[in-house]
Amino acid sequence: MSENCIFCKIVKGSLPSTKVYEDDEFFAFKDINPAAPVHILVVPKAHVVSMQDVQDDDAPWLGRMMALAPKIAAENGCRPGLQGGFRLVINNGDDGGQEVHHLHLHILGGQRPW
Ligand code: 5GP
Ligand code: ZN
Repeated sequence: MSENCIFCKIVKGSLPSTKVYEDDEFFAFKDINPAAPVHILVVPKAHVVSMQDVQDDDAPWLGRMMALAPKIAAENGCRPGLQGGFRLVINNGDDGGQEVHHLHLHILGGQRPW
């Protein structure tokens, strides 16, 4: 938990969001400014700034977050099969275009054009 982090506030419920998934480790919610018909953010509940902070022993939860993404995508309107699908994005640091400094996985999908 980081004091002034908006995603930590969303995780603990002090800032409202449209939640689509929650478990012990992760919280997923709709992006407030969607860039696609489906735009979900998945965050670890623990405050991790970015992939730049990740160590070898973070691999298991990162793997679980990636394995969770297709399930959340399917449950939120991303179409199945080769003609469906989704995009997964993690922006890191200023050069990576990261605006919120709590690691988050973007799930973007829905029928094109976006
Ligand atoms: P980044 O550029 O850091 O990878 O992505 C941050 C994302 O968080 C953006 O897509 C932005 O629309 C979204 N976002 C920023 N503030 C809020 C908020 O208060 N609530 C929600 N649901 N999304 C937010
Ligand atoms: Zn945070």
